[in-house]
Amino acid sequence: MDGEATFRLGIFLLVLLLVASLEFWQPKRQWRESRKKRWGINLGLIALNVVIQRATLGAAAVLMAVHVQAEGWGLLNLVELPWWLAFLIGLLLLDLAIYLQHVLAHALPFFWRLHQVHHADLDLDVTSGLRFHPLEILLSLIYKVAVVAALGLHPLTVLVFEALLNAASMFSHANIRLKPRLERVIRWFVITPDMHRIHHSIHPRETNSNYGFFLSIWDRLLGTYTQDPKDGHLKMTLGLDYQQMQEKLGLKDLLLMPFKPLPKADSETQQSSSQGSNSQGSQ
Ligand SMILES: [Zn+2]
Repeated sequence: MDGEATFRLGIFLLVLLLVASLEFWQPKRQWRESRKKRWGINLGLIALNVVIQRATLGAAAVLMAVHVQAEGWGLLNLVELPWWLAFLIGLLLLDLAIYLQHVLAHALPFFWRLHQVHHADLDLDVTSGLRFHPLEILLSLIYKVAVVAALGLHPLTVLVFEALLNAASMFSHANIRLKPRLERVIRWFVITPDMHRIHHSIHPRETNSNYGFFLSIWDRLLGTYTQDPKDGHLKMTLGLDYQQMQEKLGLKDLLLMPFKPLPKADSETQQSSSQGSNSQGSQ
C-alpha cells in the first residue's frame, strides 16, 4: 500500500504547511511554551507513530475494507445503495464512531491514561492534532478495523475519511484567528479551532464536552456541545488540571505517562462530569 502511504504523507505535509502559515500570520492566542520545544516533542511523537504504523497495521482499515467488499460483509452491504450515497453514509457513520470512541477515551480510566497525553499539551497548534500516545493510535486502529467490518465500508470511503480526519484534526487544533462570522458559519458543519479548544480546557466540565473531530453535529445532537469557554477564548488555560508539572514533561515522560497512577480525585472528576450535561450552546 505504498500509494496509500504517499497519499497520507502528502495530505499531512500540505495541511501542515497551510495551517502553520495561517498560525504564523493570524495567531489567536499567545504561546505559553516555546514552540521549538513543543514542536520537538509533538513531531517526535508523530514520527514515532508513523514508524510504528508502517511497521504494524497502518493500512489495516483500508485492507479490511477491501476484504469486506469481497466478502459482502457489514451493514451497508445488506442494502442496494448508489455508490455516492453509500460513500456519504459511510463517512457520516465513521465520524460518529470516532466521536463515540473519544467519549469513551474520557469516560474509561484505562483509555484516559493514554488519551491524557494528548491533553497534556499546554498550547494548541497544528501539531497537537496528531500528538497521541502510540498505544492510543494502535487501539484506535483496531477499533477502526472493527467499525469498517461492521459497517461494510468501501476502501475509498476509509481512505478519504482517514485523510479528512487527519486534516480536520490539524485544523481544529490550530491556533488561528478566524473572522467571527466565518467561524460561526464553519462551526455549523465542521469543528472549528474555537470549538475544539474548549475541549482542551483545564476545567473538566469543558474538557468533557465538544468531543467531535470532524463534523460538529454529533456534539449538538448528543448533548455534549459547549458554545464558549467560561474564562474566554484568549484567557482560558489549556492542559490538565491535575498535571502541575506539565512544563517539565519531555517526550520520554509522555511515553511513560499512561503507566503512572492517575490522580484519584481528578480521574473521578473526569468520569463524573462526562455524563453529557454540558450542552450550554444556544447557537
Ligand atoms: Zn479528548
